Amino acid sequence: MRSEGDAMAAFLNDQLDFIFFFYGLAFILLGATCWFATSKGAGRAWAILGGFGFLHGLSEWLDLTALIIGDSAAFAAARMAVMTASYFLLLDFARIEAIRLGMKLPGRWIYVILALAIALVAVAQGATTGGIIARYTIGFVGAAGAGCVLAWQARRFSGAAKGFALSASAGFILYAIAAGLIVPVGQFWPANVLNYAAFTDAAQMPIQLVRGLLACWISFSVWAVWSQRVASDIASPRYTAYVNEQFTWTLVIMGAILVSGWTLTQYLGGIYRDNVEREARTDIDMLASRLTGDVSTVEAMVQSLAGSPSILPLLSQGGAVQRQQGQSMLDLDVEASGAELGHILDRTGKVVASSSRREVLPGAERFGSTPDFLAAMAGKPAGSFSCAPALEACDYSASYPIQDSAGEVVGVAVLARSLASFEADLRGFERPYFFIDPDGVIEMTNRPEALHRTLWPLSAERKQALVNRLNQSNNRPMMDLPIVDASWMTVDGERSYVRRRFVDDSGWSLVILKPPHQIFATRLLGIVITLLVTIMALIYLMGRARRVHDEVQRDNRLQLQELAQDLGVKATTDALTGLHNRLKLETVMGNEIQRAERYDTPLTIIMFDIDHFKAVNDTFGHSAGDEALVRLSGFVSGFIRSSDLLVRWGGEEFLILMPGVDGMMGCQAAEKCREAIEHLQLGQAGTVTCSFGVAQYAPGETGAQFMARADAALYRAKTGGRNQVRLAPAPGGPEKGRQAFAA
Ligand code: GH3
Ligand code: MG
Ligand code: MG
Repeated sequence: MRSEGDAMAAFLNDQLDFIFFFYGLAFILLGATCWFATSKGAGRAWAILGGFGFLHGLSEWLDLTALIIGDSAAFAAARMAVMTASYFLLLDFARIEAIRLGMKLPGRWIYVILALAIALVAVAQGATTGGIIARYTIGFVGAAGAGCVLAWQARRFSGAAKGFALSASAGFILYAIAAGLIVPVGQFWPANVLNYAAFTDAAQMPIQLVRGLLACWISFSVWAVWSQRVASDIASPRYTAYVNEQFTWTLVIMGAILVSGWTLTQYLGGIYRDNVEREARTDIDMLASRLTGDVSTVEAMVQSLAGSPSILPLLSQGGAVQRQQGQSMLDLDVEASGAELGHILDRTGKVVASSSRREVLPGAERFGSTPDFLAAMAGKPAGSFSCAPALEACDYSASYPIQDSAGEVVGVAVLARSLASFEADLRGFERPYFFIDPDGVIEMTNRPEALHRTLWPLSAERKQALVNRLNQSNNRPMMDLPIVDASWMTVDGERSYVRRRFVDDSGWSLVILKPPHQIFATRLLGIVITLLVTIMALIYLMGRARRVHDEVQRDNRLQLQELAQDLGVKATTDALTGLHNRLKLETVMGNEIQRAERYDTPLTIIMFDIDHFKAVNDTFGHSAGDEALVRLSGFVSGFIRSSDLLVRWGGEEFLILMPGVDGMMGCQAAEKCREAIEHLQLGQAGTVTCSFGVAQYAPGETGAQFMARADAALYRAKTGGRNQVRLAPAPGGPEKGRQAFAA
């Protein structure tokens, strides 16, 4: 279970690049949302929150960059500065909103003090410690403050917007904990207890994953708050439904893009990984064959040396000549094999002959008690590596039993060859390689700083032995666990592909490392593709939102126009008869007077009134009167020309505006109308008569004067006995009356 969890943590740790990517992306989208909200009338504080989103997103992407192209102290300090700046903006958002809500808080000068304090810590204790302090003070307070003011503001919202505001608030509070309290490992309390390492141990995932998910949560909630508010401003059920649908779709689409992007990134990284693993196998095969080449040369030579009959006299008390021959044979073989030295040992392990002229070599006695000697005495060829700290390089010594003619083992031949040439060849090998003893202690390497370090932890007694032998105590292992064959693991804090291969069955092995930078470079392709698809999806979704928004706005406008038109029609129409009313007449009359003035064309009005209509009402009732009005209106509408305008002037009084018609023609038309009405059946009311006043427009006169003359003519028709037509005289001229018309 534990190891499964570890595997999960290791897997997620390999995904840090993608985690940084979507973490940054979420905050950048938060920035965009807040700036959009500001453009829609949210306060200035939201622009500052947007600034936090952009800056913090940037700082995550800088972390991603460090992961891919490698880090440096200056870059780490710069990233810490960007991160701190972003937290200042978050803090400022919380401060402004809190002040708006009525809290008394210090002005911006407090930031100067805080920034100076953090900068001092960073200079004195390093960027990591500075970053931890920035997280505790500004990050935690800023995010928790933002969470509180959002919760407070949520009270003013209603419906879904309120829910989302509370959700954003909860997101910020959790983020305050994840980013403000869980910090990199530090040397002081509480950073030495509550930190990334402790979190990964407990949760089996990197804290960045949690922060990234919280960033997505916050970003979505804030976005939802503002789209709900835009929807409630527009107040169209269609748009609200669309906003809710859009929210679901955006969530689904973004989720799908991130998951498939992650899969793609993983797949692309996998291709590189396979390449690395194949390369590592080829490399280690090459190193091993170079080393076994050296080893087997010595082994072949020691076998032929031991089998040579001229060696035997060195072991038996042969004559001086034979001994001389034996000695030359030994010297010859040592030289031919490229060995440094050769020994012949007797049954007891005593050196009886040596390639060196000297009788006893320093350290020669060790051959007599080694497992190799004992194995060879038992008839089995043996070999081993050894590396004395004083030696330039390690050597390999091979032992082989020497048999007399009866086949009995009478001694052992030993050839030792230095691995200096192997080492020299590999100095130019680009990747780190380590030649390690069975305990994992590095005895040969092309990384001099790693010489004599251990690859993995030793047992206490082995460790003590190593300390005694090398006289060094600060030997920190490079990795946590021994590897048997190959594995991706953390070496000195950096994930690498490690491959190990044993050299024959000596227990010694070769190990090579492949650093991971290029794996991030291939994964970057996956990340960039994901980013592009995200941008395209967002452009599409935003375009769609814009279109729907515009459509809804247009529909709203059309509805308003229709309404206005409707109102306009109502305003100029008489409700009972459907004829135009006085308002309409006034506009039309103005235009027609202008036209008559400009083109010098005649313009005439006929004003008529039903005679004794009051009696109709009184006799037949008001609704019979209404019916009579409606029928009369319908009749007269059909009677006049389409260029004439019939208006209900009020009560039972009507008016006909006749462009292009002079007074005489107007009188003729009125007369025809009068006659026709006389015979017209108006339902219950039976028949009525009407009196008519006719006037022709006189240039220079106002509409009111024009109408007054028609009214006066009508009045004369009434007083003259009703059911007759009168023509108004020209202004100031004598009255012509009925006679004039009759003539
Ligand atoms: P005259 O014009 O011949 O002098 O007599 P009149 O009785 O027609 O004149 P008056 O102006 O005194 O009365 C007009 C009447 O018309 C009064 C009112 O009851 C009636 N009337 C006005 N508007 C309407 C209406 O919309 N429906 C009905 N049923 N009656 C109306
Ligand atoms: Mg009347
Ligand atoms: Mg009247």
